[in-house]
Amino acid sequence: MLHVARKKEFCKVLGPGTRSVIWFHGCLRQCPGCIAGTMNELAEYETFIPQQLADWVKNNIGIEGITLSGGEPFQQPRDELAAFLMLVKQNVTDLSVLCYTGYRYEELNKQESAIPVLQHIDVLIDGEYRENEDFGQRWRGSDNQQFHFLTKRYKNQENEWNHTLERQIEIELDMNGKLLISGVPSKDFINKLTMELQRRDVNVDFS
Ligand code: SF4
Repeated sequence: MLHVARKKEFCKVLGPGTRSVIWFHGCLRQCPGCIAGTMNELAEYETFIPQQLADWVKNNIGIEGITLSGGEPFQQPRDELAAFLMLVKQNVTDLSVLCYTGYRYEELNKQESAIPVLQHIDVLIDGEYRENEDFGQRWRGSDNQQFHFLTKRYKNQENEWNHTLERQIEIELDMNGKLLISGVPSKDFINKLTMELQRRDVNVDFS
């Protein structure tokens, strides 16, 4: 089963165009300053078989692609992750796939179990978050994280992607009064907002 902490049908701040985003649950790495800290081992999650998750994507009409985040996508059962991505691309052939991971591409590329997953990814954004290298890069948390263009899909935009400094976030309030934040907010923004909201008794979920 795939463990999902959160999913969002339409998001414009985690990759090109409008994308469906899946935040997988859990990451064992515990990098200092990680903004996905709320998706740790204790957080709530839903479970899906690959077909269910692929059906959810299929219903999100008009998206350019999907973005996988977390938590750590590659700490999910990799055979199921690969099956999910295969179904997504079978259902709608021109959807693109972006994937965040704390692993390095070179590391994953040597692991047999990761290859069937990598084969379905257009752009891998690799490396753990490092607070001291957070300079406001678009779609990246810190400068050590690199875009790996594994297919031709966005290859011609490589220069632009590597040099754009622009952080955008989306903020929503769910039915339970919980504030959901999507994107890659700056650390300073997170600290100020968290302090202010906690003072007012509002729960925040940064993804
Ligand atoms: S930065 Fe990435 S690899 Fe590190 S704890 Fe957070 S989700 Fe895991």
